[in-house]
Amino acid sequence: MNFDLPTDTAAMCQALTAFARRDLRGAETFTPEDFRRRWSLTGKQGVLGLTVPEEYGGSGMDAVSAVALMEALGVGTDDTGFGFSVAAHLFACLMPIAEFGTPEQKLRWLPRLSSGELIAAHAITEPEAGSDIFAMRTTAELRGDEYVLNGTKAFATNAPVADILLVQAVTSPGGGFFGLTTFIIESGTRGLRTGPPYSKVGLRGSPTGEVYLEDVCVPRDCLLGSPGAGAAVFSASMRWERTCLFGVYLGAMRRVLDSTIEFANEREQFGTSIGEFQAVSHRIVDMVASVESARLMLFKAADDLSHGGNGEIWSALAKIAVSEAAVRLGLDAIQVRGSLGVIDGEAETLLRDALPSRIVSGTNEIQKNNLARALGLGRRRPVRRR
Ligand SMILES: Cc1cc2nc3c(=O)[nH]c(=O)nc-3n(C[C@H](O)[C@H](O)[C@H](O)COP(=O)(O)OP(=O)(O)OC[C@H]3O[C@@H](n4cnc5c(N)ncnc54)[C@H](O)[C@@H]3O)c2cc1C
Repeated sequence: MNFDLPTDTAAMCQALTAFARRDLRGAETFTPEDFRRRWSLTGKQGVLGLTVPEEYGGSGMDAVSAVALMEALGVGTDDTGFGFSVAAHLFACLMPIAEFGTPEQKLRWLPRLSSGELIAAHAITEPEAGSDIFAMRTTAELRGDEYVLNGTKAFATNAPVADILLVQAVTSPGGGFFGLTTFIIESGTRGLRTGPPYSKVGLRGSPTGEVYLEDVCVPRDCLLGSPGAGAAVFSASMRWERTCLFGVYLGAMRRVLDSTIEFANEREQFGTSIGEFQAVSHRIVDMVASVESARLMLFKAADDLSHGGNGEIWSALAKIAVSEAAVRLGLDAIQVRGSLGVIDGEAETLLRDALPSRIVSGTNEIQKNNLARALGLGRRRPVRRR
């Protein structure tokens, strides 16, 4: 494994951190206007289309460079929610369009989505269908030349502000893996409504909301991929998201780790800095070890994705490692700060932002189920007869 970044990517990382420190700080609270303003600035930096092919307005980077840049974004901004929104847009929306879209769809959407003009959301989850996506009830019925969609989606990142939505719907009831289809739907389409952002424990700078579809009519050219390819689109988007989005968390952890070391050196008790106490310094060493091992795993997953691996195993392992490390780091960063850790600040914000990370992109329990299956666990063995 060699994760050396090309010189221009390393320089871009530095520039992106500097940009995020300057222009994307201090707004954990969400307002649509400020979100759009930051979105447009982020688009101008080339971040929103990092992995999109150059011919469609992106930078054509691979997953390793993308993780490095997401990490740089997470280091610079203290609004991990905004970084999360950027990554969900790019990896769960633009990449599926780049992989499954027709040339016309790519030309129509990708340049504007990459430039920051438009915002995208991918609506899969439903009130009664979270981990079990095949329990979804949203339907798309072919009537003449149009599909008619009905249903309710929940917890869609960016939905409250989205200009286009990728919507998963059942086209063949009982069809399992081949029963779902993905549609690209514009926000102004009749019958489509989005709800306000939920009030969440963390990632408050990322608007997450519901999507209501009542007799939404769309022409056949709104299909992303062929009919029945919805689960394949979903899986591809999750592979990208599970790997690259978590770079934002790596960056947030690095930022909080640095400030924790600084705090431990400056805070004095019993006539010396608390970093002198082994209980504190060992805790910080454990924090470093946890972040660095999660980092290695995430880059390994990105390397696997960049080299055409199917990404399933490494992205699941890395997703678990990064999200669990983020929660632990939040707790430890609070503990090192004592009472100062529980009032508004970087440490408690990291903990709150980290909590959803164990749930999004497929919960950690579901990742473990998938990993166990990949290891051949739970397969019934034939009974040996003597
Ligand atoms: C901040 C945020 C952003 C999100 N963004 C999006 C988005 O952009 N688009 C989208 O479609 N969705 C999005 N989601 C939804 C997310 O994908 C789902 O929340 C997730 O898939 C889990 O579904 P659920 O919440 O319904 O939990 P459930 O599936 O109801 O699970 C509840 C608990 O049971 C456990 N569980 C369920 N089944 C099993 C099993 N078979 N084995 C072991 N344990 C199990 C789960 O691990 C979990 O702990 C987002 C969620 C959050 C919090």
